[in-house]
Amino acid sequence: MADEITKAQVARPGSDTIFRKMIRKEIPAKIIYEDGQCLAFHDISPQAPTHFLVIPKKHISQISAAADDDERLHGHLMIVGKKCAADLGLKKGYQMVANEGSNGGQSVYHIHLHVLEGRQMNWPPV
Ligand code: 5GP
Repeated sequence: MADEITKAQVARPGSDTIFRKMIRKEIPAKIIYEDGQCLAFHDISPQAPTHFLVIPKKHISQISAAADDDERLHGHLMIVGKKCAADLGLKKGYQMVANEGSNGGQSVYHIHLHVLEGRQMNWPPV
């Protein structure tokens, strides 16, 4: 956990990210779903028994940089997240999380939705 916070504190928005390389298939990913607008894949460092990410193919660095025009795209990410959860057989509930900026715990500056399941998730975040 401390490691994740440290990563978020040092991460900065950039023109290219590990996620863009995954979209371009330059580095491998355990892909769950892909369409013209988004990609869903398993997180490399899972924080729950099931932990996957849904990202747009359009580069948007973070939620605070999203435009009003991106509204449908963000809805699409959430709907894809719930469909992937159903396809993976997640029946006991899950958390969808989007981290924003350093205090929000964001370490990769390409918008993404976390979906976590397989244990009792905590609320509020500690
Ligand atoms: P954030 O901290 O920005 O909300 O979440 C970034 C997530 O991306 C983290 O959960 C981290 O484990 C994941 N991640 C970082 N690099 C890679 C990678 O190369 N492959 C995959 N599959 N996930 C990654």
